Amino acid sequence: MAKLSPLLKQATPVLADHGEGVYLYDTDGRRHLDFTAGIGVTSTGHCHPRVVEAAQQQVGKLIHGQYTTVMHEPLLRLTTRLGDVLPEPLDSLFFLNSGSEAVEASVRLARQATGRQNVVSFAGGFHGRTMGAAALTTAGTKFRAGIGPLMPGVAVAPFPQAYRYGWSEAEATSFALRELDYLLATVSAPADTAAFMVEPVLGEGGYIPAPPGFLEGLRERADRHGILLIVDEVQTGFGRTGRFWGHDHAGIRPDILITAKGLASGFPLSAIAAPTELMERAWPGSQGGTYGGNAVSCAAAIATLDVIQEENLVDNAAETGARLADGLRKIAADHPRIGDVRGLGLMQACEFTGPDGEPDAAAAQRAHKAAVDGGLLLLTCGAHGNVVRMIPPLIVTAEQVDDALELWSAAVSATADGD
Ligand code: PMP
Repeated sequence: MAKLSPLLKQATPVLADHGEGVYLYDTDGRRHLDFTAGIGVTSTGHCHPRVVEAAQQQVGKLIHGQYTTVMHEPLLRLTTRLGDVLPEPLDSLFFLNSGSEAVEASVRLARQATGRQNVVSFAGGFHGRTMGAAALTTAGTKFRAGIGPLMPGVAVAPFPQAYRYGWSEAEATSFALRELDYLLATVSAPADTAAFMVEPVLGEGGYIPAPPGFLEGLRERADRHGILLIVDEVQTGFGRTGRFWGHDHAGIRPDILITAKGLASGFPLSAIAAPTELMERAWPGSQGGTYGGNAVSCAAAIATLDVIQEENLVDNAAETGARLADGLRKIAADHPRIGDVRGLGLMQACEFTGPDGEPDAAAAQRAHKAAVDGGLLLLTCGAHGNVVRMIPPLIVTAEQVDDALELWSAAVSATADGD
């Protein structure tokens, strides 16, 4: 008899039976308030009726077409619909299955389009686990250790981490941009640099929003040196941060945008978007895959977009996100181990710090476990594992946010020994 691989490490002991909206029900019938949303995927909530119906209808018509063999209608319709939400001039789309695949597709495109090899990513960034994406990932040693050699041609510049270094956001931003200039002058000359790869909010790296001026600084340097700016919106896209795209907060324009997670409410789907003129510079045959742009995933994505727009979920993310952040700050004020509360929209986190000022992963793990035991599903993140994050579906209500805050407050109080 086969058994589950020991590779499987579960963040919670939950054995899910079914999901409905913001709740997951386990096989014992216990209800959990799900503030993980499948790591920021089920933005419309578990099994939103509109998404379920769209997928069910599509399953009965066509499951798989393979779009380089035969085009199918859901993919064409989704492409048109995404035109409403993509920033100009990103008018061309290419579909894949996962965030990592889309990251790698964007690197292939950037290298072919510029004829340059290097990609600069930012410390604490997470871009996936495939060999190219892992090379760009510095959100923790566990993502890279023992699997190399990884894709060559990657240089890593600092991301502005104000809290950890005790700086203001302006100081951290100025430091990071000066170090980037130094890197471009010494390690990865502009003539060799195809792209910058950046998240608008460091995700797995600890939920650190890019401070004002940072993305703008990258845009300015990209323009100056003919470098492409790739914005990885796998986790931040589709309303998660209270704006449709995470980079909307900075008002900058990406050259290539990567989207996945929230795009199809849990069906595997990802995409890269770029101006047609740039996308046309990919070499024929270098992009693609058997399952990318699956017909059922595309139908679910269209329904997802309908729900996000008709139920005003981006505004809801901004409003409930502000309520969540406010409540988390109030709780942190009574708990010295929570050194920082930060995030954008419904991407919020608490960083635990010990009395010595160092990351306190043990305190974070204790609070996380108590919250999960109490019925609030959460995740941790950060290179040191000392950040607890909350990523509820975008349909979450003010009352459900208050319920979560109550559970979180109880979990933190119950585990505050030694504060
Ligand atoms: N980029 C970012 C910003 C992510 O958060 C993730 C997943 N956490 C990925 C890429 C990789 O996506 P996937 O797990 O679908 O390959």
